[in-house]
Amino acid sequence: MITLSRIGQSIHSSPTLKINEKAAQLRAQGESVIHLGGGEPKSCAPFGAIVAASNLLNSGEIRYTPSAGTPALRKAIVDYTQTFYRQEITPKNVIASNGAKQAIMTALLAIIDPGDEVIFPAPYWVSYPEMVSLCGGVSRVVNPESGYIPTIKAFEAAISPKTKAIILNSPNNPSGLTYPESLVSDLVQLCERRDLWLIMDDIYHRLTFDGYPMLSCFDYAQSFDERSKLVVINGISKQYAMTGFRIGWAVASPVLIQAMNNIQSHFSSGPSALLQHAAVAALTGPQSSVESLRLTLQNQRDVLVDLARSIPGLKVEKPHGTFYSFIDFSAYEKSSHKLAEYLINSVRVATVPGLDFGMEGHLRISYCGSMKDIVEGFRRISWALGADGSDEIEIGGKRVRRAECIK
Ligand code: PMP
Ligand code: GLU
Repeated sequence: MITLSRIGQSIHSSPTLKINEKAAQLRAQGESVIHLGGGEPKSCAPFGAIVAASNLLNSGEIRYTPSAGTPALRKAIVDYTQTFYRQEITPKNVIASNGAKQAIMTALLAIIDPGDEVIFPAPYWVSYPEMVSLCGGVSRVVNPESGYIPTIKAFEAAISPKTKAIILNSPNNPSGLTYPESLVSDLVQLCERRDLWLIMDDIYHRLTFDGYPMLSCFDYAQSFDERSKLVVINGISKQYAMTGFRIGWAVASPVLIQAMNNIQSHFSSGPSALLQHAAVAALTGPQSSVESLRLTLQNQRDVLVDLARSIPGLKVEKPHGTFYSFIDFSAYEKSSHKLAEYLINSVRVATVPGLDFGMEGHLRISYCGSMKDIVEGFRRISWALGADGSDEIEIGGKRVRRAECIK
């Protein structure tokens, strides 16, 4: 008999990655699937990054790197922090990891003891609760009174003697909203006052629309020095459409970075030399692909919001950034899992249930695919909800009758 550890038994697989697999599986079976559940832009990685990786690959000189990342990558992250956060740091403040995911996980491992509490607001990225559990910690979710933005008072009320850290992701996956500057600055100051770690997950910070500013949490901190408990997470996955390259990073006090490096040196060593090399080229090369991605996403967001708002009963907040919208479908179905199942089974549209992000009644709908997919996806969703009156729909060359679609 196989007996698994507490962790082995209790950690669930990532629902966002699972939906990618399900969509790919159905497509491989010849089904006409519209994937509105994804979490990655479809544009190409910057050409310079591809050339850099190919050149290094061709040289055959692909070795271990320092476990915190190559000097060139750490220097590029130092420069990035100066450019986008107006904050001077040194390579000692930087660790590069296998994606922002590993950077967050390693930071939590270095901060959290079993029983410690970590606070984050709902809706939250699916991995935070599982990462906290992996450390033996306890998640404390702050729920907004209405909408998607909790008050600073709600954060304060969630703090207990066991609280060690707060995580904030802005712009937010899944709501697409940015937290107001006043809340970010209040949180930085609250964490300083109460001696808590603040992990700012800024993975979408360059993908904002309509002039929403890229906030720099350093601006609100008293100082950023050896004793600072501010941790800033970022990476190349989203802004450069390089999800599969798996390079992310953390910027923090050298004390935390050293502890994270010790952990990472046993967990995975440094990220792949090849992919770090590509990341340096992305970070230091022409930046036009980021702006072009941002504009494409903003355009797609506009179309998605119009389509979603044309369906009676849906509550749609216009995203300020990212490539997600978090739509309230509760007028049609309260159980987000039931609704997501129904949409994939009946009209082959993949979405992610809101419950996985800590908010029932919603679906996360991505607009990082093609415009064609967004339009076709909403044609199908509208029909599946009964909003377009007709009894039949054509899906991938087949006629589907409403009577055959059981919710
Ligand atoms: N944070 C958030 C909020 C995300 O949506 C993601 C997406 N995967 C990550 C972190 C991790 O990104 P990466 O691909 O760099 O691991
Ligand atoms: N962060 C993306 C998402 O939320 C990618 C999947 C993942 O890493 O969980 O869909």
